[in-house]
Amino acid sequence: MDDASQTYDVAVIGGGPAGLSAAIALAQTGANTALIARRAPYADNRTTALLGGSVDFLQAIDVWPRCRDKAAALQAMRLVDDTERLIRAPEVRFSAGEIGLDEFGYNIENRRLLVALEERAAELPALTRFDDEADMVGPGDVDVAIHTAGGKSLSARLVAGADGRQSLCREAAGIEVKRRSLDQSALTFNVSHSRPHRNISTEFHTPQGPCVFVPLPGDRSSVVWVAAPKEAERLIALSDDELSEAAETQSHSILGRLRVEPGRHLFPLAIEQPRQFARHRVALVGEAAHVIPPIGAQGLNMGLRDAADIADIVGRAMAAGEDPGAPQVTKHYDSARRADVLSRTFAIDIANRSLLSDFLPVQSLRAAGLHLIGAFGPLRRLAMREGLAPSWRSTRRVS
Ligand SMILES: Cc1cc2nc3c(=O)[nH]c(=O)nc-3n(C[C@H](O)[C@H](O)[C@H](O)COP(=O)(O)OP(=O)(O)OC[C@H]3O[C@@H](n4cnc5c(N)ncnc54)[C@H](O)[C@@H]3O)c2cc1C
Repeated sequence: MDDASQTYDVAVIGGGPAGLSAAIALAQTGANTALIARRAPYADNRTTALLGGSVDFLQAIDVWPRCRDKAAALQAMRLVDDTERLIRAPEVRFSAGEIGLDEFGYNIENRRLLVALEERAAELPALTRFDDEADMVGPGDVDVAIHTAGGKSLSARLVAGADGRQSLCREAAGIEVKRRSLDQSALTFNVSHSRPHRNISTEFHTPQGPCVFVPLPGDRSSVVWVAAPKEAERLIALSDDELSEAAETQSHSILGRLRVEPGRHLFPLAIEQPRQFARHRVALVGEAAHVIPPIGAQGLNMGLRDAADIADIVGRAMAAGEDPGAPQVTKHYDSARRADVLSRTFAIDIANRSLLSDFLPVQSLRAAGLHLIGAFGPLRRLAMREGLAPSWRSTRRVS
């Protein structure tokens, strides 16, 4: 259905994984929801390590059963100091069994997750899809006016801005963003290998950033290789044979012979943080609300928590007869997301800086910290639990 004639309770703008998840969760609460997003094949080969409550959330929105068989369980994680510096951290191994779990989560290719999300979104009667782009978002006193590139006009009492890094919604709400480019790029590609990964993800810490091998189903893994921009440019230009060899060397052959699969992408890294997470009837979701480097697999996991929270808060407001875009509702969302996003951004930034630092005392502190985490069970278990999801977060209702 494509119905521009009415005012919606909520309009979600942007159909990446965060936007689609938010639209499904919102429509499931019964909110009359518009989704303004072009249907297009997923453009890159990123994968997501779904951690903590992400799988439960995807289960609650009836997406997980549609893609579970495309995901690989993550049962252990190894951190290996590959800096060859004078002071090096010992290897640290985290096992899900240590905190009473069968697995930390699951790694899945984003394009497979997107297919499952699209399939579920198409089923919901409360969700109206506009296969289009928003080219004007105008927050007003009682609603938000939206115009699309295809010439449609609609309005909604609340907009969930899930339109990524260059968010038009964020700009329309007058939300400023703090931006810091990092002198690093992430190269992503997938590999097949001759030895099994045994559901262990391994992170090699190099002086330019981490290089991570994350299990995929079968004898395959996804690789996120963070390096200085020049080095990343060199790596992406290698032939398949050369890149296979470079990745095998970087992995110290723990997965045996590596063979790169078609498709590589380069992502310049940055940290972006808006001053508010909601304002003037616009709530930010996904990368519109936070951009962090791919360390500790946090980005989309936070995006899914944004989606769960906006649906929960809107569902409760509407059940109480409130306007879903009223200032108290957007304020509630802003405070619900603030501690999670700010604390994680800070922790990832520190972890990244401590790895890159040439300053010996910082290197010693980092090595000592990892040594403590590796040696003391309670500390290691605390780090594992906090790495999965904030411990203070209550479970959110979604449907
Ligand atoms: C190398 C790398 C590895 C990563 N690994 C992990 C990981 O293991 N775990 C994890 O949790 N996170 C990870 N992340 C982060 C994760 O990939 C992102 O957080 C996530 O993909 C962002 O999804 P999104 O839906 O917010 O944004 P996007 O995927 O950018 O979606 C935004 C969408 O909005 C659309 N759009 C933009 N403007 C408009 C408009 N005006 N109207 C309509 N639509 C519009 C765009 O076309 C796009 O489809 C990684 C990131 C990188 C770079």
